[in-house]
Amino acid sequence: MPATGRGAAGRSGSDEAPGAGPDREGTELEAETRYEAVVVGGGIIGLSIARELAVQGVGVALLDRDREKGGDATQVAAGMLAPVGEHEFGEESLLPMNLASAELFPGLAEELETATGIEVGYRRQGGLHVALDRDEAAVLERMADLQEASSLEPHRLTPSGAREVEPGLSPSVTSAVLAPGDGAIDPRLFADALEADAATRGATVVRGGSVNALLRDSGDVVGVETTDGPIESEVVIVATGAETGRLDWLEPGELPPVRPVKGQVVELRVGEGAPLCSRPIVTERVYLVPRPDGRLVVGATVEERGWDREVTAGGVHEMLREAYRVLPDLAEASFLGASAGFRPGTPDNLPIVGRTETPGLLLATGHYRNGVLLSPLTGAAVARMVVEGLEVAPGMEAADPGRFEVRAGRT
Ligand SMILES: Cc1cc2nc3c(=O)[nH]c(=O)nc-3n(C[C@H](O)[C@H](O)[C@H](O)COP(=O)(O)OP(=O)(O)OC[C@H]3O[C@@H](n4cnc5c(N)ncnc54)[C@H](O)[C@@H]3O)c2cc1C
Repeated sequence: MPATGRGAAGRSGSDEAPGAGPDREGTELEAETRYEAVVVGGGIIGLSIARELAVQGVGVALLDRDREKGGDATQVAAGMLAPVGEHEFGEESLLPMNLASAELFPGLAEELETATGIEVGYRRQGGLHVALDRDEAAVLERMADLQEASSLEPHRLTPSGAREVEPGLSPSVTSAVLAPGDGAIDPRLFADALEADAATRGATVVRGGSVNALLRDSGDVVGVETTDGPIESEVVIVATGAETGRLDWLEPGELPPVRPVKGQVVELRVGEGAPLCSRPIVTERVYLVPRPDGRLVVGATVEERGWDREVTAGGVHEMLREAYRVLPDLAEASFLGASAGFRPGTPDNLPIVGRTETPGLLLATGHYRNGVLLSPLTGAAVARMVVEGLEVAPGMEAADPGRFEVRAGRT
């Protein structure tokens, strides 16, 4: 298994200081290594947690089964950071988390770019929501009303006002709302930067080895069993995205109600220096997210189809048709590809972040359609739980696993 970083807390039984382990860069992760924290899953959530733990000086190892970079859903996510535009009826508890996490991005993006030299494509120009017919206009109006009721101050625009903001918009646009403060980031580059920075700060990042059991001692979790041997740890944080709901090494009472919600996206390339739009454009049926390098991501389907990962002609056709309605010049863009991934969905659309009933076992999953947005807050909250021994994730109280049976019986 390739490993980067040097975050071992010291050998089992040694008194070596956290973070002072031997340099394992490019070496095998040795069995019997003991860490203060092990994070299982190297998507945007696991990476954010591992990086934040490393910032706090905790000896942490991150383990991911994939040899290649950066997570499953994380690799296909559009990267919209949209607490305002994505605010929906019935999701009032999610809003404060989304808003708080959005505020962490400017500082974090700058820190990561300075530390790693990786430009993460962070932009915060607002998201433009547009309607192309009367039905869509009614939906847009209800969305703006909800935003106002939640003190989010949406900017209603006339069709010509919208085209002033985004000149490439179709003349068919009938109304528009600018969601201020919303933005976007390139999730793949963001993940790369988090991983590089975590490793530089002493985290051990191991790719290509699956965790297939937990080490337990008198009911406590004390490490993980990997395909390459056991690793001891004071706490284990499970951040395995949509997979978390079907991990056969969690006890029934630890298994969170997470399900895969399939999403397909299309990637296009438009002429560099001639972007079709400068900010995310969102309709009732599709969204378009420009990347600084000239790519344009069109997404996304929302499909309850279990673990079916097929990219379908129907899905791609529908997204391109709807995207073309909004930005007609898109017809000239090059087709780079299409992919599918699984959002980790939960029964109430809130993430599941915090301690389980089992001492030493934490969950950080279920971020559904806002995992990229919520990653900085999740990283900071989980790191504080570990470092300060907190019972509940600060700022993410509504995400506590205890609301489901996963913590039933806890005293
Ligand atoms: C099409 C689509 C568009 C999206 N758009 C947005 C968006 O615009 N904005 C936004 O905020 N969110 C978006 N999301 C949601 C976001 O992508 C997810 O919420 C987020 O990526 C979840 O991150 P994660 O780290 O929990 O999971 P993942 O990224 O899925 O990572 C989980 C990792 O765990 C690893 N793993 C699993 N089992 C094991 C094991 N046993 N041992 C070791 N490793 C294991 C996997 O290999 C994987 O690397 C989108 C999602 C999709 C599918």
